[in-house]
Amino acid sequence: MATLTAERVDATLPATMEIGAMSAPGAISMRTVATPQPGPKECLVRLRSTAICTWEQRSYSGVQHNTFPFVGGHEISGDVVAIGPGGANQLSIGDRVAIGPSSCGRCHWCLTGQDRGCKLHYAGAVKYGEAWGPGGFAEYKVHPVNGVYSIGDAPYEIASLAEPLSCALHAARLLDLRVSQDVVVLGAGVMGLMNVLAAKKHGARVIVSEIDPDRLSKAKLMGADEVIDARWEDPVARVKELTEGRGAEAVIAAIGHQKANEQGMGMLSERGRYVLFAAAHPEPEFTIQPNPMHNRETGVFGVVSKEQQDFYTATRLIRYGGVDLSPLVEATYPLARLREAMDHAIKPGTYRIVVTQEPAQG
Ligand SMILES: [Zn+2]
Ligand SMILES: [Zn+2]
Repeated sequence: MATLTAERVDATLPATMEIGAMSAPGAISMRTVATPQPGPKECLVRLRSTAICTWEQRSYSGVQHNTFPFVGGHEISGDVVAIGPGGANQLSIGDRVAIGPSSCGRCHWCLTGQDRGCKLHYAGAVKYGEAWGPGGFAEYKVHPVNGVYSIGDAPYEIASLAEPLSCALHAARLLDLRVSQDVVVLGAGVMGLMNVLAAKKHGARVIVSEIDPDRLSKAKLMGADEVIDARWEDPVARVKELTEGRGAEAVIAAIGHQKANEQGMGMLSERGRYVLFAAAHPEPEFTIQPNPMHNRETGVFGVVSKEQQDFYTATRLIRYGGVDLSPLVEATYPLARLREAMDHAIKPGTYRIVVTQEPAQG
């Protein structure tokens, strides 16, 4: 048994735990480290599900630079098993939670409702010797108490998708989407489909443009009102046709691709806004024509993450059945088979692969 100094502890904690560490692109292995302890206003979460996102996939496939050894996994759900000093008034042992953003509540960014800028936004990063990262490929993780969110009775695999859903809800909120507005989502991978769900929740009419017919079917299943097969149809002309010639009030680019960006910018209506939702490696060129943008009052901005209210909204939607994310989970693998899970996740056309951590044996 570990000797824990935490304020409240589940008595069954083991002294060590397994982590999945990436030592280089394509190289991932299990290591045994000491089970971490929560400090003041932190809790220890026994992880139950961790979904594999593009950051981990790109680090593994080598298309995105990273610092190794890396303990990936930032889409996480689990159970609170220990609470550090000063945190027990906000949480209880046994709470089922998703791990999300934290904040200090007092800085400029927090006090202006923009807590993504707070220095505590990513406060949940872990360090095990040289290894660092968001720490979801592990059996346990320490996280700030104000960065965990109740998931009620929702399945852990589904609740681990609160993080990507929250990013799409962040985009919808920044766009101030309104009932019956025309929104185009470019790309129907997981993040595109999360944006379909978020825009639909805001009452928008959603058009999806994509080149993969299976993904177009999935987009329909997830609630897209119109789909455009961009292999055969000119997406710009088709969007104009579907919007009485106006174009879309919002275009969300869930793929990072130069041609898609050119098409997307070309389908904006007057005052339309373009969201760069996806990173791209290598970085594509992006051209803005200032005079048309000035004359038509259009705009462009990026979305990379979420704020606490977006994450809270995501967990509420998941908890109370406001969205069905189950079509996005393609397969689950136990943590011990993380390498296989990563190999599956990087296959083109794959939806979310979720790693599951069985409850530790007492
Ligand atoms: Zn993610
Ligand atoms: Zn702050």
